[in-house]
Amino acid sequence: MSRTLTSEQITLSKSLIESAQRVVISTHRSPDGDAIGSALGLYHALRVLGKDVQVILTDGAPEFLQWIPGYAEVIILEDRPNEVMNVLQGADLLFVLDYNQYYRTGEAMETLLQQTRVPVILIDHHQQPGDFPNVCYSDTSACSTAEMVYRFLEQLAYKHCIDDACRQALYCGIMTDSGSFRFPTVSADTHRIAGEMIEAGLDHAHVHRMVYDTNMMDKLRLVGYALSQKLIVLPEAATAYITLTADELKQFNYKQGDTEGLVNQALSIQGVKLAAFFREGNNEIKASFRSKGSFDVNAYARRHWQGGGHINAAGGKSDQDMTTTIEKFEQLTLQMQDQIAAS
Ligand code: 5GP
Ligand code: MN
Repeated sequence: MSRTLTSEQITLSKSLIESAQRVVISTHRSPDGDAIGSALGLYHALRVLGKDVQVILTDGAPEFLQWIPGYAEVIILEDRPNEVMNVLQGADLLFVLDYNQYYRTGEAMETLLQQTRVPVILIDHHQQPGDFPNVCYSDTSACSTAEMVYRFLEQLAYKHCIDDACRQALYCGIMTDSGSFRFPTVSADTHRIAGEMIEAGLDHAHVHRMVYDTNMMDKLRLVGYALSQKLIVLPEAATAYITLTADELKQFNYKQGDTEGLVNQALSIQGVKLAAFFREGNNEIKASFRSKGSFDVNAYARRHWQGGGHINAAGGKSDQDMTTTIEKFEQLTLQMQDQIAAS
């Protein structure tokens, strides 16, 4: 794990990029701002370099990310499976961004990715990367994959390929994954990168407005309902959690992305050190975990919720119903309450 690439990684990445014409960029399922931002940021830079570039997604991005330049050109597996297959078959080079194990792309995409024999360059900030990439640029201390893409381009001497569209995408990734530059993983270098992009002409306020000032009424009412009716605090365990069932989501016309950040609201309560959010989906319950301080939600999500992520932000799932899931969560919390409270 390193903030910078080794000289061998730089040489290998450069030769892989130089000898490739058709480049495919892949990111994780249910893409967030950093997934889309890093993928489209790299897309624009590689296009300036003269490559044929294609971003492939398992499923579409929430509306608040669809304005990012280049989004209209992505291919979504759910909508156009044959095109994704063809693109992967014809690729000379594959980039894996903002994830580090193929299962994070979902079963159908995972199968396709495992079948490809192209060289892989991975750029990611999650824990425990797999050993499949030819170049593994992994930095778990980075606040976002988007800032790593900037550093990657910089170290390969491709900074001249960073155009305005690339800057908008990368800034969006950094801003969303850093909680608008407030999480502990934000470094002086994060600010340097943002500063350089603004100096180069980026309209950062535009990016902020497009992501955070485009709420629909339904979304705000859903958040209001979740906070006023569904927020539960377990004070002895310094824990807060929110649950939303499929019926409740339907009542507020739930759209993907509407509950983004909700778990952080629960964590913002004074004295709370662990926050969880459970959202009922089609076949499973999606779980989000956040912590303040030393409680490692990556380890917790891996151990109990078939997931993972970072020390202070992780996700996972439950295959049981909501009632059983909450019982399990409360029981685990009870067992760990001293550990959480002391974290
Ligand atoms: P979120 O709660 O926002 O969905 O995810 C928080 C963090 O945990 C993100 O960095 C995300 O990539 C990671 N994450 C979410 N769900 C999973 C999962 O099922 N498995 C793994 N390994 N990581 C996850
Ligand atoms: Mn990320």
